[in-house]
Amino acid sequence: MDLTTAGSDIAKVIVNGQEIKARLHELARQVERDYEGRDLLIIGILKGAVMTMADFSRALNRHIEMDWMAVSSYGSGTKSSGVVRILKDLDRDITGRHVLIVEDIVDTGLTLAWLKSNLESRGTSSVEILTMLRKPEAAKVEVDVKYVGFDIPKEFVVGYGLDYDEKYRNLDFIGVLAEHVYA
Ligand code: 5GP
Repeated sequence: MDLTTAGSDIAKVIVNGQEIKARLHELARQVERDYEGRDLLIIGILKGAVMTMADFSRALNRHIEMDWMAVSSYGSGTKSSGVVRILKDLDRDITGRHVLIVEDIVDTGLTLAWLKSNLESRGTSSVEILTMLRKPEAAKVEVDVKYVGFDIPKEFVVGYGLDYDEKYRNLDFIGVLAEHVYA
């Protein structure tokens, strides 16, 4: 869905579709260099990272394997609870694997800090993180995010996989949700 159709639900556009694609291509080159000669398993976090996984994985000019996890986050609200629950686990054993977690957004960093240590505890060779978006709060948490698409202001955003109450995931850009939608 484009901005014209989304209309007044979007207060402002943060990153447009072309900028997203261009940035994912840059990150893909970096990941290709960093993982040269090593097998790579990319793990997408459902549902928000679906678009990022789809475009990032296709930008990678090398073999990879993909798996998915689902963890609980905001529910239908707009505040982070800090409580992480696995809703869907990986399909396979990841012992000895080089893992790259692909996430939509890091806000407080609580979800990713928990997820990273959870995957490390499974005997992986390495665990790194790629996120499309990072909010300023994330810098305060002890979670090392190696690949960042865009640093954005502390506002609630939707689009390109990110939802509000399961809607707006199919926007082809990332924008700030207008207050009248949730106020
Ligand atoms: P954290 O644990 O870093 O605070 O939260 C991470 C999760 O919260 C993300 O995976 C995402 O599902 C959700 N989240 C954080 N900020 C936003 C936002 O601005 N918009 C949306 N739609 N979800 C967000």
